[in-house]
Amino acid sequence: MNIQFHGGVREVGGSCIAVENSEAKVALDYGIKIGDKAFDSLPKDFDAVVISHAHLDHSGNLLGLAKGKPVIVGSEITRDIVADLLRDMVKIQRMNGNHFPYDNKDVNSIRRSWWVREAFALPGMSVKLYPAGHVAGARMVSVRSDGRELVYTGDFCLHDTSILEGAKPEILPRNPDALIIETTYGGKTRMRRKELVDQLLRQVLSTIEREGNVLIPVFAFHRSQEMAKIIDQAMENGVLPDYRVYTISNLARRITGYFNSHKQFFTKEIQKQKQPFHFRHVKPLYRTGQIKEPAIVICTSGFGQAGASLHLLTEWATEDDNSVIINSGYLPPESPLRVAKEKRELVEKGRKIPVEAEIDQIELSGHADQNELVELVRTMEPERTFLVHGELDQANALSEKISEVTEVYIPEKEEIVAM
Ligand SMILES: [Zn+2]
Repeated sequence: MNIQFHGGVREVGGSCIAVENSEAKVALDYGIKIGDKAFDSLPKDFDAVVISHAHLDHSGNLLGLAKGKPVIVGSEITRDIVADLLRDMVKIQRMNGNHFPYDNKDVNSIRRSWWVREAFALPGMSVKLYPAGHVAGARMVSVRSDGRELVYTGDFCLHDTSILEGAKPEILPRNPDALIIETTYGGKTRMRRKELVDQLLRQVLSTIEREGNVLIPVFAFHRSQEMAKIIDQAMENGVLPDYRVYTISNLARRITGYFNSHKQFFTKEIQKQKQPFHFRHVKPLYRTGQIKEPAIVICTSGFGQAGASLHLLTEWATEDDNSVIINSGYLPPESPLRVAKEKRELVEKGRKIPVEAEIDQIELSGHADQNELVELVRTMEPERTFLVHGELDQANALSEKISEVTEVYIPEKEEIVAM
């Protein structure tokens, strides 16, 4: 069996790993590197492409396969959300006036090529999927061939959240010949999830008490629904007083629909509820003009570089009664949220605006932190461990922690490893 690392090595973005025996070849993920001009540069000669989860850095290159006859495998909710994200990608490319060689017909053909499976076989190769935590529908993947076994984690976490169970290391294969593990937070540990959520609710409460506005920029998939659920539940339980809460994102609204119709992907508690993502206190709006202040607004984009979150950031950042709660751990260098947080200013049409609002970063990440990464490796005891999906300093930090239990290797882009 040969492994080739096409992307998502020594960085986050463009994840794609090829696994091949003498008769069959699969891709584990088919992602895009956001902002990369070399779209559609991945090989296409795969017998099957397994998509670990719906984030575009793991699935965003799929349109490049639309003109062929691909076999794509993944969970049902991943299929539905990938199709919506790809449709959104087509729309944005058109809006920006870019030449983009794909349209909604190609999105439909990707959706039709999708096999909802938790296991399948190719000549001399068997593939199995395991729940990975991280986001709804995320899966780890094991590949067995020639008496050897490898496990690819995709993005994962072991900790549970209020809506999603973490991955269960005890059900994963023991002593695989190779483990390919993400290292987004290879060098970082975090507070426990519950403490982070308490911190978030305290922050929201103190803004409510001074009758300010709260802006919570999120991604349309998963974090938007989770945040709405946390706040709705806190109001239902009396942890927060009644206050206006809005979501603004058509994409998020559609994805919330899938969350309601695919309850089996969530915790047992969520499955017991009739319409778990139908909220009593959170109202979906179409545009920012409909907001009645003061209010809590959960909206896209997650980095504040576009959409309602950019608009509200510019409008609300100048008042010290207001607060902005960032929950992404990573912020691109020049993104408005990062500039607002670090330099306490915003730039609008070349004009600098001072930031007076409180800006907090509470990392409600769906990725394993260093403790969880080490726990997974110690439980599985792989022969060799390949570190991917993380900056080199993060991979090195994890390597130090696990090198006594497994042989550690940090591959380079396009490198081929025989096993
Ligand atoms: Zn992800």
